[in-house]
Amino acid sequence: MIFDNHLHTKFSSDSQMTIREALQAAEKLGLGLVVTEHWDYDYIDTKNYQDMDFRFEPEAYWEEYGSCRGSTLQLGVEVGLTGSSRKENIDFLQRAPFDQVIGSIHTIDMLDLYYPDFYEGKTKQEAYGEYLTVMAEMIRENPYIDILGHIDYICRYAPYPEKLMKYADFSDLLEEVLRAVLETGTVLELNTRRLGDRAAQKALLPVYRRYRELGGRYITLGSDAHTAENIGMNFQQALDMAAALELQPVTFSERQMLYCR
Ligand SMILES: [Zn+2]
Ligand SMILES: [Zn+2]
Repeated sequence: MIFDNHLHTKFSSDSQMTIREALQAAEKLGLGLVVTEHWDYDYIDTKNYQDMDFRFEPEAYWEEYGSCRGSTLQLGVEVGLTGSSRKENIDFLQRAPFDQVIGSIHTIDMLDLYYPDFYEGKTKQEAYGEYLTVMAEMIRENPYIDILGHIDYICRYAPYPEKLMKYADFSDLLEEVLRAVLETGTVLELNTRRLGDRAAQKALLPVYRRYRELGGRYITLGSDAHTAENIGMNFQQALDMAAALELQPVTFSERQMLYCR
């Protein structure tokens, strides 16, 4: 069974999705799910744009969803990696027997990449360069994560007219990220959100090709859905890409990697 390994339901501050809606959508598509609620310990909504608090109580999550957990539903978390939250993140992961842990870069120097502030006064080369440098550092500092989430996250929100992260423009830094992934035994996610855009897909292809060349064998597919209709989004494109690059889609249960077939 193919799994959507990245989605957010109501325990994430930016999602209202119920577990029932998620399960119904997945069943229609014949997909398994790993729910990955947001845990960004030291997130500060500096501008108070939406007053978000990306934390949740894992005990409540387990109590409410635990009975749904089984062969087609696993309970995971997406941890926002920052230099100042390592200890709190590790402590947090002790509070419930999570099936899967995605590590993601959502903020740098306490600035949310979603908002314009991070990019102010920076060229695209500088902003993307900083993003990839921090990403490589965070992977090495947090080797306990199972998966590196959305390597192309910055391309969603950067304010530059050309948002693509072309491999040739960032090859050294991308290679450093891929080496950090492989040296720490982390699996690279293929986040499917941008795969509907052919240019975005074309720009991502060499990243995953290089991952394969350096010895990467496994990927997780993740839609990053915050609503039921986005579950499994662009999965055909992702499966085609995985097949072309001979990358094996996997999922996690009780922190153990399982092949998806
Ligand atoms: Zn994320
Ligand atoms: Zn996410």
